Amino acid sequence: MRIHHLNCVSTCPLGGHLMDGSARSMLERGKLTCHCLLLETDADGLVLIDTGFGLRDVHAPRTRLSGFFLALVKPEFREEMTAIRQIERMGFDPHDVRHIVMSHLDFDHAGGLDDFPWATVHLLADEQHNAMAQRTWMDRQRFRPQQWSCRDRWITYRDEGERWFGFAQAQSLRGLPPEILLVPLIGHTLGHAGIAVRCAGRWHLLAADAYFYFAEMDPHPRCTPGLRFYQWMLEKDRRARLENQQRLRALRADHGNDVEVFCSHDVSEFERLAGRPAGIPAERLVDAGSQWASGHR
Ligand SMILES: [Zn+2]
Repeated sequence: MRIHHLNCVSTCPLGGHLMDGSARSMLERGKLTCHCLLLETDADGLVLIDTGFGLRDVHAPRTRLSGFFLALVKPEFREEMTAIRQIERMGFDPHDVRHIVMSHLDFDHAGGLDDFPWATVHLLADEQHNAMAQRTWMDRQRFRPQQWSCRDRWITYRDEGERWFGFAQAQSLRGLPPEILLVPLIGHTLGHAGIAVRCAGRWHLLAADAYFYFAEMDPHPRCTPGLRFYQWMLEKDRRARLENQQRLRALRADHGNDVEVFCSHDVSEFERLAGRPAGIPAERLVDAGSQWASGHR
């Protein structure tokens, strides 16, 4: 198993440093990532973990995304940053992406699904159910059926998992190796999950939107006021969300050597793990150890 870190289109939220803690003022736009993973498995092709924004979002954002979120987070629409273009640039065939594992269905995670219509998509049943119900005004802004043209290829999971560190009901996934687990982290949405991947003797947990700012995982957690507000605005179950944040902090404190925990939208976490600035797409792979890269098969 090999893990590649992809930022599939940055967002530029209103509020500047009140959001990301690093913009020069609150008048300029902040910067957040859409941190996705591309896994090279030994026998099951490529696996994409979350999809960020996709080609159709880049080319026709107003037909796909809500005016409310376009104004609020102003995605930096660059085609070269979509998952499919980065995968091609790395030297892979996008048709080798056979599986996609989704943390949840918010517009900034599900936009690339339509670019891989051949892939099997894995997610929690509660996420599919609640996103499709479109119950509230905010649900209709965040969950965009326009991004789900391949929904007949979704496989959903419900309460059938095992314990993983301090988390109940971690799901192994049909057709995928046991090194990839869907770990329910309910709160941000009602079927929100992290994705744990075991690679080189260590677990990597993409905690997605279970938290937004790196320092929320510190023993004395802190968060920018803007991201605190954003998380409050979007939370579907506050108690579960805060309990899961506490579990993640305990996981990092007790098992920091065994598990690397990171979220979807923190630029500093992305840059540390990817080893490149967040605004630069993944590089072409040059070493021959890559089984799925074109020219090596
Ligand atoms: Zn998100």
